[in-house]
Amino acid sequence: MRRFVFTLALAGSFIATAAESSQPSTVVVIDAGHGGFDRGGIPGQRVPEKTMTLDVAQRLKAVLTAYGYPVVMTRDSDMFVPLGTRVAIANSYRDAIFVCIHFNAARRGSANGIETYFYSSQSLPLASAIHYYVAGGAPTPNRGVRRRGFYVLRKTTIPAVLVECGFLTNATEANYAQSSAYQQKLAEEIGRGIRERSLVASTSTANRLAANNTTVPLQPFIDQTHYRDPDLVRSKHRKRSSKSSSKSTSATRKHSSDADSEKRSSTQKKKSAPAQTEN
Ligand code: ZN
Repeated sequence: MRRFVFTLALAGSFIATAAESSQPSTVVVIDAGHGGFDRGGIPGQRVPEKTMTLDVAQRLKAVLTAYGYPVVMTRDSDMFVPLGTRVAIANSYRDAIFVCIHFNAARRGSANGIETYFYSSQSLPLASAIHYYVAGGAPTPNRGVRRRGFYVLRKTTIPAVLVECGFLTNATEANYAQSSAYQQKLAEEIGRGIRERSLVASTSTANRLAANNTTVPLQPFIDQTHYRDPDLVRSKHRKRSSKSSSKSTSATRKHSSDADSEKRSSTQKKKSAPAQTEN
């Protein structure tokens, strides 16, 4: 429990308050994936995901602070933060949004592209806006908005989105991810999506009728709550059990490096089912 409390206290010190009262009041909780002993990605992966996520997260913090948003980081250094703690930090703020930064990994080196995940319906506009700009601004394929029950998305009570900013197991995307210019580009596009999330069309009909650029299209999504992309089923976000099983609280019980491992066993049987799209 001590680490839990300590981390919450640390998080409080990372709050950057808005410079003026006229600035946006929504708190943005930025969650840099993985950290500490949890490198992220898959075994043997050359580029550590935890380093890339923190870099983009810190750049996003700067972008959002410049916009005037109060920003909270679930981690701001190379430290391990349990998923339950990340969720607790996010849920401790009202009128807040939660943005998780990740990079993808797959055994198939050719797998590439940008994905954005959400779970609750209240999170779809935020996912749509972020994905619209990140995928639109990236020189890599658009893998779409996806709905999936990642722990950090299911357990958060505020709009929550997880962005997979490309595959570090793909040579081209790994090179991009390691360039500061591209990291900055990712941060700026995510920030733009956050800033313009309220412009997302509320329905696909409104989206079709929108005749100007003031509306961000509501993105169709792939429902992965009962379907797994074969590229990703066994490759990423593996459970890290050895160093993180000392706690028994709900906050620390599920220590997969990401949110999904607890669902893997129940969905593996269904992985050959076709993707379902909505909207
Ligand atoms: Zn990850």
